[in-house]
Amino acid sequence: MKLSLLLAVLALSLPISLRAQEVKSPDGSIVVALHLASGALSYEVRHQGHVVLEHSPLGLETSIGSFSSDLVAVPSGVTTAQLDERYTLPHSKVRDVHYRANELTARYTNKNGDELAVLFRVSDRDVALAYRISSPTKLRVVVQSERTGFRFPVATTAFITQQAPAGDGWMGTKPSYEEPYQLDVPVGTKSPSGLGFTFPALFRLGSTGWALVSETGVTGNYVGSRLVNPTADGLYSIAFPEKSENAGLGDATVAASLPLLTPWRTITIGATLAPIVETTVATDVVKPLYEPSQRYKAGRATWSWLLWQDDSMNEPDQRTFIDLAATLGYEYILIDAVWDVAIGREKMAKLVADARAKNVDVLLWYNSNGSWNDAPQTPRNCLDSAPARQREMAWLKSIGVKGIKVDFFGGDKQATMKLYEDILTEANAHGLMVVFHGATLPRGWERLYPNFMSSEAITASENLIFTQGFADNEALNSTVFSFVRNPVAAMDYGPVLLNKIFSRDQKQGSIRRTTDAFQLATAVLFQSPLQHFGVTPNNLVEQPAFVVDFLKQVPSVWDETRFVDGYPGKFVVIARRSGERWYLAATNGEKQEKTCSFVFPALAGKSVTLIHDGVGRAAARRQLQVGADGRIELPLASEGGAVLFAK
Ligand code: CA
Repeated sequence: MKLSLLLAVLALSLPISLRAQEVKSPDGSIVVALHLASGALSYEVRHQGHVVLEHSPLGLETSIGSFSSDLVAVPSGVTTAQLDERYTLPHSKVRDVHYRANELTARYTNKNGDELAVLFRVSDRDVALAYRISSPTKLRVVVQSERTGFRFPVATTAFITQQAPAGDGWMGTKPSYEEPYQLDVPVGTKSPSGLGFTFPALFRLGSTGWALVSETGVTGNYVGSRLVNPTADGLYSIAFPEKSENAGLGDATVAASLPLLTPWRTITIGATLAPIVETTVATDVVKPLYEPSQRYKAGRATWSWLLWQDDSMNEPDQRTFIDLAATLGYEYILIDAVWDVAIGREKMAKLVADARAKNVDVLLWYNSNGSWNDAPQTPRNCLDSAPARQREMAWLKSIGVKGIKVDFFGGDKQATMKLYEDILTEANAHGLMVVFHGATLPRGWERLYPNFMSSEAITASENLIFTQGFADNEALNSTVFSFVRNPVAAMDYGPVLLNKIFSRDQKQGSIRRTTDAFQLATAVLFQSPLQHFGVTPNNLVEQPAFVVDFLKQVPSVWDETRFVDGYPGKFVVIARRSGERWYLAATNGEKQEKTCSFVFPALAGKSVTLIHDGVGRAAARRQLQVGADGRIELPLASEGGAVLFAK
């Protein structure tokens, strides 16, 4: 045998454990390498030749043994596949999705002969990672913890939000993904709460790009996880919920039948923020768990509670907001907490019928509890058990209610994930859409559960009313949420508050710092297929007609979404398309005026309407002729905004 041939044969017969398994994105820009060394797994991610993740650990600890150590590669246990799927998101930031990715599956056995498969799916902008545990003899597993981590280069900075302690907040309702962000902090910066960080988390890879880390595919079969223990060398590790979440009810571990496919952890990567704004990875790697019982209709809603608060939970004020919805052509009114006491169930049936006579459908609020918070708002104990849920939803269907907003959930334990799933599944059986508040990040739910519409999981606009400090940061936050939270799921923020003081009479309350054009821009910027507006009846007479016209025609679902320009904490420009019509929304996060200059070829040569910052921070309107090069200059006032749309 010639030496060269001998070497070739030797190379082929090297134990698989000594070689990295590689999988690349279809365009070759993202490369994932999977390593087995001394019985333990790790992975690395590179993008356009730059390191995104250095050697990062993989594995799980379970009731049937460790899948973090003593692993042995299964002979011929590596397979690859090319994924090419088209699917539709009927009410999201994009309608028609084409997902192309290369998949790597690598199988290993542990000491007991049970199997761990590591799955990577790599598209041109995302890496998705999951585990599959199976056993020749065992039918169930308890997953106690994960070793999974993300090790960023030390020069990376993070845009990240802390996990709240269980039992904090209004009547013990936290954690609920409503915490402030740390912006551009070095990797390794500790969480102020000491409990790590919630998904998604954005990382800036020095001058080479960006990475958004999140999680999808979490159902009643797992827990919602988070990132903890950041180390000075850039490692963030996965943690399961705290025992104290959900008021102690339920385990903090995972119990599942075998085989078990875990949720997917996702890393969206780009040289710019475009892949992050435009990603669909949260829905790309999951499949619907049931068929929609009917065609659910997205739309806009009026909502008295936001600015008029608890005092408006009475029949006359709700009729006022039904009329406001009818005037604006909005499809819905959201009637918030304590309607069951303040209006009553009998009168509600009549109110729903009267609203429907004006082409306005009704969404009703519920407390999710139960035993997991002290929030006194009713209705309570209507959705926390299957018999109560079925009775309640049958009644809702009988009076023609179209959807529910369910508030005050107890955390990220599997028991809570199962409650979300049970509410959604039962609601679908009764033709009800669902929005969650005081809730976890929805992880792929727009596709998993076809009647899921939106979740809060952000410091939403209610905080403008609660504290001046939040109002002072409203503009800044708008430029963070658009690049971190909203890219992975619909966000029920509750946009467009045109009152100058955040109250009913505009005499007392927190003062709005942002401009009117800023507020209008948020209707496009913050994506939620059920969009609950902060508009009040006085706005119709106080604002110019072109503002009211804009409010009437702005859509809440989109055929396409594109990043245009921006930097988290400074400014954002995002474009969304509805049919033939593009809308560009911009906000300025800083307390100094600026002009954004960018090229948007789809509007080249077109005449567009620009609503911009005018005199006295009121909105002004003008026509703008975009040149053949598609260049647009948008002047933004301090904490201002703009929205631009083609005819
Ligand atoms: Ca809330």
